[in-house]
Amino acid sequence: MRPSILHPLFADVVTLPGVGPKIAALMAKAAGPRIVDLLLTPPTGLIDRSQRPTAAEAEPGARVTMRLKVDSHDPSPAKRRPYKVLCSDPTGFVTLVFFHARRDYLEKVLPVGEERLISGLLEDYGGAKQIAHPDHIVDPAHADELPLFEPVYPLTAGLHQSTMTKAMGAALSHAPDLPEWQETTWLAAQRWTGWREALRTLHRPDGPGATAPSSPARQRLAFDELLANQLTLALVRAARRKAPGRILKGDGELRRKAAANLPFKLTDAQRVTLKEINADMASPERMVRLVQGDVGSGKTLVAFFAMVAAVESGAQAALMAPTEILAHQHMKSLAPLADAVGVTIEALTGSDKAEARAAKRNGVARGYVNIVIGTHALFQEGVEFHDLGLVVVDEQHRFGVRQRLALADKGPQPDTLVMTATPIPRTLALTAYGDMDVSAIREKPPGRKPVTTRTIPLERLDEVIAAVARAMDKGEQVYWVCPLVEESDVVALTAAETRYEELRARFGDAVGIVHGKMTSAAKDAAMRAFYEGALKLLIATTVIEVGVDAPNATAIVVEHAERFGLAQLHQLRGRVGRGDKPGACLLLYKSPLGETAKARLSILRESEDGFRLAEEDLRLRGAGDLLGSAQSGMPRFRVADVSVHGELLKAARDDAELIVRSDPKLKSERGRALLTLLHLFERSEATKLLSAG
Ligand code: ADP
Ligand code: MG
Repeated sequence: MRPSILHPLFADVVTLPGVGPKIAALMAKAAGPRIVDLLLTPPTGLIDRSQRPTAAEAEPGARVTMRLKVDSHDPSPAKRRPYKVLCSDPTGFVTLVFFHARRDYLEKVLPVGEERLISGLLEDYGGAKQIAHPDHIVDPAHADELPLFEPVYPLTAGLHQSTMTKAMGAALSHAPDLPEWQETTWLAAQRWTGWREALRTLHRPDGPGATAPSSPARQRLAFDELLANQLTLALVRAARRKAPGRILKGDGELRRKAAANLPFKLTDAQRVTLKEINADMASPERMVRLVQGDVGSGKTLVAFFAMVAAVESGAQAALMAPTEILAHQHMKSLAPLADAVGVTIEALTGSDKAEARAAKRNGVARGYVNIVIGTHALFQEGVEFHDLGLVVVDEQHRFGVRQRLALADKGPQPDTLVMTATPIPRTLALTAYGDMDVSAIREKPPGRKPVTTRTIPLERLDEVIAAVARAMDKGEQVYWVCPLVEESDVVALTAAETRYEELRARFGDAVGIVHGKMTSAAKDAAMRAFYEGALKLLIATTVIEVGVDAPNATAIVVEHAERFGLAQLHQLRGRVGRGDKPGACLLLYKSPLGETAKARLSILRESEDGFRLAEEDLRLRGAGDLLGSAQSGMPRFRVADVSVHGELLKAARDDAELIVRSDPKLKSERGRALLTLLHLFERSEATKLLSAG
């Protein structure tokens, strides 16, 4: 239950003076529907009205504030012409321009012969300086009414800056004085103010740097947000540690045999990761471990050895894949390894006939089947196990902590291994996976075929299509990735469907399409047709990221590569060069390329190290865009920006650890204030845990 002290903050913005249902709807779009959403929307910039240039000095194109004398009014003779007010100072003239003006009003605020402080965007109009609809007109006697530093908020069509600013002022007056949840010595050392004071500084800035990410007010508020995040993860982790686990410790015999059967040796990175996993499994606490590693780094094999370890100690293991086709692929690659050491393995899939399905399920329930492979969906429906000891979740970077918890709630709590092929920068891993232990496989098996990466402007599309035709003639397969599904007026991106029609007109039935708006059965069918070779060219939106192995795919074309995140492009590139032929990755971009986009694409050409790319991506783009998609499972921060507040994040993590150790139920005075913080950021995962236990 939300503490009553927070209620005013969670009121609808429509309750603010001057905000009707129409404006409220726009605000909901730009910031959020409630007062707290407004307050936690930091300004994106600042208008500085502290400088006072003369009419001669003032530069057209800038927002300026001048002290001008009103010389005369020139009401418009015709309806369509604007009303003009001619002003000057000793150095020159400036004309104020008003459309649809109310004469009596203008005569009142701009009396002839008097001076006024005028602030607005200065324009050049046929050699003359003019300001259309000034932002502010203030009597110099009341100069303090002119805000010297005005915040600029993110807007949406129809929503004005002044409306936002006014609403923000009203919202500020709703902000209660909350109990301090930060540690007093830390607060003093940082020279931070209290929460309400910091909010006020953020929205009523008193200097040019007051809203910057490095400003004390912004840092304080960012730390609040990060602490709420880290405290939640720490509480989840602590609760999980309390849940009884089991000791899974085999004699190593099966694993030794399985290793001896491999035609290669495990890499050092695989060995180290397995050691970490085995130590977790052998301990009485429940394992919740994330394995990060690039595409092709050998995660699946690591998962296999972990599952064999579970089998050695008499338990069953399950491997959950995100799609049917991936489940089939895992089965195909792991079955021979399992068979060779006498471990029974079965894949449960949606395409099983009723009889086969019943038989498999029976085998699983009775414990004859040691390792089960299936889709997430299937496991969520419920599969009865004889004794499930280990669950491996493949490619789960799209899951947030909330979903992971939901999954864990489903049944008894086996050891859990999550595998992701999206390397995440260390700082981000803390925010997204802080509830888990993390292993990283940074080394790839030897003998990988390199993928050549080239960047090509879209204007040279014809050459690219010719290259694709040559590859197809040689019997090779090609992926073609487009960023959007439908043509949109706003973002004129080449849509997958348009490109599909075009390429189909040229290459015929060898061309297929797969995109996010298709049913999962239709997606699977298209992927399978490509995987089995019936299709030679697959047009796709980024759904193919999820990772299907088509060993014959030698090239991938990415349109509008400048729109993708580095990590995403790297993932896509990982789709080719998986067989015995080297791969090519053609990144098509729309010129001219911005500096950041240029830098990103060139890093991609230089490096095939997913971890390095992820760090660079964070540095270049900021955390918000990192995975390029809202459902990435990454927490979204409103005030904090992990690309600049990384140090604060680490401090928040340490603080959270200490809190959970010293006051796990949040009962102390600070603890109760921290509970308010969790409610403020709506960390229901944490507040539910606290009220349950
Ligand atoms: P990931 O799941 O990380 O994408 P996989 O486990 O599917 O990677 O491995 C990719 C390929 O590399 C597979 O064909 C696998 O057999 C092979 N492989 C895995 N580990 C090694 C190794 N240590 N040495 C050589 N090849 C390996
Ligand atoms: Mg894999």
